[in-house]
Amino acid sequence: MSTSQFKPMEGFHKLETLWRIEYEATAVEPLITKAGDEESQEYVDSIIGKSLQKDLPDFVPILLDNKAVVTGNAVKGVFRHVVSAQLTAANVRVCVQNVKLGEGESPPADRKDQCSPDDPCFVCTWFGTASRQGALYFSFLESVETVENILPSTDSSAIPMLALSDKNMAAAKRAFLYVIPVRKGTKFTGWITGENLSDEILGAIAEVVEMSRHGFIKFGGLKTRGYGAVKLEVKKIEKYKAAPFKLEKEYLGDELGELLTSSRESYRKLITAGEG
Ligand SMILES: [Zn+2]
Repeated sequence: MSTSQFKPMEGFHKLETLWRIEYEATAVEPLITKAGDEESQEYVDSIIGKSLQKDLPDFVPILLDNKAVVTGNAVKGVFRHVVSAQLTAANVRVCVQNVKLGEGESPPADRKDQCSPDDPCFVCTWFGTASRQGALYFSFLESVETVENILPSTDSSAIPMLALSDKNMAAAKRAFLYVIPVRKGTKFTGWITGENLSDEILGAIAEVVEMSRHGFIKFGGLKTRGYGAVKLEVKKIEKYKAAPFKLEKEYLGDELGELLTSSRESYRKLITAGEG
């Protein structure tokens, strides 16, 4: 068990500060925001043109108001997973939520059981538990351009057909998956809001952003097939005083860079304290 202590949320039952983190995500590989519903499949198929000898595509982006979107829940899941995995590797114990475990299954040896509500781990404090909303809220990521401008070229050779494994092929009764991803280079924007954020959790977010610059952060479907790497960039952070509600500070440019660097140092102290 680690002796590392994270800073508990300040004013757990009272709102001191509110934060808004605006960021951009750029697909550095084709990205499939997730398997779409039938309506989206038909719509995307109609934009691409009926040149393929196949029924509707198996995977298309999720569409909302003509933009491709990644749901806030999916984004939050990626952040939660990366932070949990990093803390676990650094011997800072984090719990496994019961919903992730099968019946009668125990958490891995280096993870603890689901936190009790009055003693949350770092991850549960900031990302929440099944019974309690966390302090962080993730918006949808929405493509800057409309869907017509972010799909692969209408030249059908540009549309990936992924070979299925023998096992999956038997189940699907066909050899290929027909995928219409959003193009590499597609930009998405979104925001994260937070309550009473500590420098450590800001730093954890900055750490995920840094990892994304090296290709380690992936969103959406078919990640194991090479889809979904995104590069994240924080554009602006606003800090508000909660009562009375008032913008206290806007971080941009150099000041934003300094805030991210110093927060990341606090987070890195937390993970280094867990080592050994
Ligand atoms: Zn926990």
